[in-house]
Amino acid sequence: MAILGIESTAHTASVGIVGDGAKVLGLASDMYRPPAGGIHPREAANHHVEVFPGLVERALADARVGPEDLDAVAFSQGPGLGPCLRAGATVARTLALVWQKPLVPVNHCVAHVEIARVLSGLDDPLLLYASGGNTQVIAYGRGRYRVLGETLDIGVGNFLDKLWIELGGTFPGGPALEREALGGSELLDLPYSVHGMDVAFSGMLTAALALYGRGATRPDLAYSVEVTAYAMLTEITERALAHRRRESVVLGGGVACNERLRGMVRAMVEERGGTMFAPPRAMCVDNGAMIAWTGRLAFDAGVTIPVEASGIEPRQRTDLVATPWRVS
Ligand code: AMP
Ligand code: MG
Repeated sequence: MAILGIESTAHTASVGIVGDGAKVLGLASDMYRPPAGGIHPREAANHHVEVFPGLVERALADARVGPEDLDAVAFSQGPGLGPCLRAGATVARTLALVWQKPLVPVNHCVAHVEIARVLSGLDDPLLLYASGGNTQVIAYGRGRYRVLGETLDIGVGNFLDKLWIELGGTFPGGPALEREALGGSELLDLPYSVHGMDVAFSGMLTAALALYGRGATRPDLAYSVEVTAYAMLTEITERALAHRRRESVVLGGGVACNERLRGMVRAMVEERGGTMFAPPRAMCVDNGAMIAWTGRLAFDAGVTIPVEASGIEPRQRTDLVATPWRVS
């Protein structure tokens, strides 16, 4: 039997169907790309409402399953943008009611951990979750996933996107900066903002734009921003490993697609004698399969939610969500 998962926390609407052993049977996603500037939550939500029916059909067709083959419908309950979450939750509730299936709430950040954990085969790794809106170092401890460190202002992906848009580009900025950085050679001096296991990026954004105004080239700027920001993330991950006496690290989030970040974290972890695992890109970015898989774990542990109590949680904290499928 399979679980269908609905993801819609931010720019990506996605439907995944996962069978036994986290096998992805079907996955259909559609990312909202604003014509200019950043993401407006309501415009992204409108996009999701339009594409979801087609995505559900495509995922079911790819998986060659019908509603009768599903155990439950899982959805991203939070954290995320309110209008976007609401679009996905509405689709999930409708499907659950029409198909008469249990509804399973899933925390988006926990889903990034769980998909990376099952794909890596690592039992208890630390997660570096680097996405548009979130930047966190997460580890399991005493019944919950704990956020050990995080950004004090904006997510690293938002930082990259804002910078790239200010430099004249369009969303998403991370992949564009990665290409641009390949042509850079000079390491420019930028604020390196690590506070214990936390990081901050807005100072670097201001400084980078000031350097650009004074004539720094885009490739050098991209190179310097990548090296500095990813060194910060590598440092807090290493500190968390040392404090939590862990050996392995998994990556998640769109920024985890970045080759430089992957390389820097891998070098750090391997130097300590540990293992680093980065999921395939389709499983790093927001996707319905990770929601379906985490829905599987939750459902098998007895977690369901009545439709009338299935409100979204835009600010849901990772460490407030029970994970009864994990025992300490
Ligand atoms: P997510 O919020 O997890 O779906 O990830 C989206 C974020 O990942 C956006 O801010 C993108 O700019 C960023 N991103 C995607 N690919 C890359 C890449 N190759 N390098 C850096 N950032 C990336
Ligand atoms: Mg995400």
